[in-house]
Amino acid sequence: MKKAILFIIDGLGDLPHPETGKTPLQTARLLNFERMAKEGSTGLMSTISNGVVPGSDVSHLQILGYDPKEFYPGRGPLEAYGANMELKKGDVAFRANFATLTGGKITDRRAGRIDSASAKKLESTINMKIDGVQFIFKATTEHRGALVMRGKGLSANITDSDPHHDNETPICKSLDKKSAKTAKLINKFTSEVYKKLNNHEVNKGREKPANVILLRSAGIAMQVPKFQEQFKLTAACIAGGALYKGIAKYLSIDVIEVDGATGDKNTSLTAKGNAAVTVLKNHDFVFLHVKACDSFGHDGDFEGKTNMLKRIDAELLPILRESGAAIIITGDHSTPCIRKAHSGHEVPILIWAKGERVDGGTTFDEIACMKGGIGHIRGKNVMPLILDIIEKAEKYGS
Ligand code: ZN
Ligand code: ZN
Repeated sequence: MKKAILFIIDGLGDLPHPETGKTPLQTARLLNFERMAKEGSTGLMSTISNGVVPGSDVSHLQILGYDPKEFYPGRGPLEAYGANMELKKGDVAFRANFATLTGGKITDRRAGRIDSASAKKLESTINMKIDGVQFIFKATTEHRGALVMRGKGLSANITDSDPHHDNETPICKSLDKKSAKTAKLINKFTSEVYKKLNNHEVNKGREKPANVILLRSAGIAMQVPKFQEQFKLTAACIAGGALYKGIAKYLSIDVIEVDGATGDKNTSLTAKGNAAVTVLKNHDFVFLHVKACDSFGHDGDFEGKTNMLKRIDAELLPILRESGAAIIITGDHSTPCIRKAHSGHEVPILIWAKGERVDGGTTFDEIACMKGGIGHIRGKNVMPLILDIIEKAEKYGS
């Protein structure tokens, strides 16, 4: 049985540096990428559609074969899955974070970046039931966390309670009649949390007490067809970032915890590569994710992104090459350093597999891939291509 590794380098694509005229992929000398480009074929991929600027959440769903128009539950539920929370159909889930409330106004949206251990101690105080609806909170890193509301007749058609600016009052508003109950419950929750946290032991002596929870990105939990049933493949995910593990959990892909996989620039690429090879023994498909290139893009750190690509080339690719699996490398979108934000520009894609066509390309970057044999494809084409390579595609017609 042929197997595949889909390696997504978050924010891979970029634009030319204003002085050198080269992208990070063009600037770094990437010997293993070059070798794989020579032995495989390349192209460019537009995740959603040309010029559409996607978030990482929808772009991953699309690449993994799930149309976000149908299956995107909102960021909240994906973050809750990533925080290892269980969701039931109809639950409303949020991204949540501790903040400081003074005189009814937010004075620090991160509660002085409370440390993870202290935040954890506040968790149980925040779990409560209001008018028959359960509020379940989980702290993740520093001031961040996720919240799940469980009860009858809840709606996600509400505004964030997070005002997104200091000196404003956290209020949740309903966006239609059906959501009035949910918004009211959230506002009650906000004031209950304040009452319980303001004088909490953990907050004693804190200049910026973590005395309120701000909620954003509400989404309603829904059920999706399991990846294994959809594609007849057993699948595993290796990622550091919570969102990516959350997406995998949502699609019922096995999430493998790897020591040293941090989801940032310090991540252990060797540990992730070795884990990918190991899990291939009992899975057909591995979704491998590296986040840091996107983060460097957001910071406008051209050199950081270039160096991260060098590390991927030197530390990770040699391990993947030895796995015996078909390897598909791409990004979920471009994050040009010059823009410090995502963009709709196509991202390079590389297919390297035994017995596949070789297109004569010699490099892997945004410009070289324009001429590649894969051509210009969409995110929705990636899974069908992979299925065909590993001889798992079902015949269309008879
Ligand atoms: Zn992304
Ligand atoms: Zn990003």
